[in-house]
Amino acid sequence: MTLRVGIIGAGPSGMAQLRAFESARQNGADIPEIMCFEKQDDWGGQWNSSWRTGLDAHGEPVHTSMYRHLWSNGPKECLEFSDYSFDEHFGRAISSFPPRAVLFDYIKGRVEKSDVRKYVQFNTVARHTSYNPEAEEFTLMVEDLATGTTTEHVFDKLVVSTGHFAFPSVPEFNGINSFPGEVLHAHDFRGAERFAGKNLLMIGSSYSAEDIGMQAHKMGAASITFSYRTAPMGFDWPENTVERPLVTHFEGSTAHFSDGTHGEFDAVVLCTGYQHKYPFLPSDLTLKSKNVLYPANLYKGVVWQQNTNLFYLGAQDQYYTFNMFDAQAWFARDVMTGTIELPSLAEREADVQLWLERQGALPDHNSEADFQSDYLRELIEATNYPPFDLDAVSQLFKDWMGHKETDILGYRDMVHRSVVTGTMATRHHTRWLNAMDDSLGRYLGGPSQDVDTGTLSAVTGEFSAK
Ligand code: FAD
Ligand code: NAP
Repeated sequence: MTLRVGIIGAGPSGMAQLRAFESARQNGADIPEIMCFEKQDDWGGQWNSSWRTGLDAHGEPVHTSMYRHLWSNGPKECLEFSDYSFDEHFGRAISSFPPRAVLFDYIKGRVEKSDVRKYVQFNTVARHTSYNPEAEEFTLMVEDLATGTTTEHVFDKLVVSTGHFAFPSVPEFNGINSFPGEVLHAHDFRGAERFAGKNLLMIGSSYSAEDIGMQAHKMGAASITFSYRTAPMGFDWPENTVERPLVTHFEGSTAHFSDGTHGEFDAVVLCTGYQHKYPFLPSDLTLKSKNVLYPANLYKGVVWQQNTNLFYLGAQDQYYTFNMFDAQAWFARDVMTGTIELPSLAEREADVQLWLERQGALPDHNSEADFQSDYLRELIEATNYPPFDLDAVSQLFKDWMGHKETDILGYRDMVHRSVVTGTMATRHHTRWLNAMDDSLGRYLGGPSQDVDTGTLSAVTGEFSAK
């Protein structure tokens, strides 16, 4: 009987799994019966963003946490597919830090080229899963959101690719209930225009805090205060930006910090991260993890230890993204089809432990980038995913982190070289700080007459003036 594979979620990870099978088919292999279920009406996951917050038109939790004016926060050269370059997609060199719509276009381009959309049932949400160990089969119940009809499907292999940045972690703070201004989590943030002239408190010290805070600065916020739990980000912030330790409590619109300082705020954005949540899975198949580079209980970061018919893609914290999902999907495909034979549970456990020990000793961000590069290396060496220079990408990550240290408002104006094609990125026509139109058309079509493109010359070889 033909192998039956179910894929839950058609974001970049699910799309990578579809592409992995398509690649095998193009190479002459017989491929399994594939069904992919996506609760939204299009693929792209986070990148298929929406103005909606809370519940979507079907009453389902809105998945995307992306927002207007979101530009890539890492160099695109670090996430490039090795079998579908940016040059191939756009037909010309582009800048290193494109906005969301441009990256969305790129990831769609690859799957649209192959005939894989037919495998995806859109507007269809995974509701419930059970596993029959005797038959070694999953029964997945899904709901067609347009009709409300539920159906059951039986699979030999199940791929969970539903992402882990959609269910916010929302801590409690004394007195926040009486804060008179707006309080929201980054998941519900859709644009900083309304923060112009406001005093903004961001709780958290990672990518969301940094990016939303600097977008607020770009949109004219009066002041930005970051409140950290563990460590400050420590960038050379613009003058209206400070970092404080954690909020102890609120009194009206005043926030008190653990160093004894306090401040008055108009709005609070909780940039406090996300939970791994898989409500369609029974607890014995559910990954429980913090946002880490190597979640426990997944062999090679992909295969569920106690049931090797279950696969998770993209469950890691992410330096690499699209190309890592590819490497994982190629690996998962080869395990599913038996091309890769799995070692015993004890050997797999020992392997996972080695990675966890190494993860536990990572001293800094540079070594984290090397760690994830080494992880990809193992996956790629085990499969026929087209290899690319991982050491060069790791160096790109380090250069990028160095640029952020030098100029947090200007790092997106820097350019990097593709390790896939050797093409040097072009400088964007408008520096990030001035770019107020993040559409694909504006990005490809040239500068707006409404912005100061003259400052482009300021970044030709130099960083921004704050
Ligand atoms: P997702 O993109 O989350 O896709 C999961 C898919 O599963 C969604 O389409 C969802 O609708 C679907 N789904 C969920 N539950 C169900 C269900 N029960 N049934 C059916 N379908 C379901 N990465 C970068 O490389 N560069 C960036 O600049 C960048 N910016 C980011 C900004 C934000 C705010 C966030 C949150 C993430 C960002 N990322 C960025 C990382 C991003 O997570 C990855 O690029 C990528 O989207 C992860 O792909 P995924 O397929 O694993 O998950
Ligand atoms: P994250 O990286 O997991 O960071 C969560 C942050 O919340 C950490 O600083 C953590 O502090 C803090 N935190 C958690 N619980 C807290 C609590 N109770 N009190 C105070 N602080 C708390 O999550 P994220 O920043 O939302 O990033 C998620 C993903 O989105 C990343 O992949 C990122 O790249 C992506 N992203 C990209 C962009 C872009 O520009 N393209 C923008 C936003 C986000 P500790 O350090 O103390 O744990």
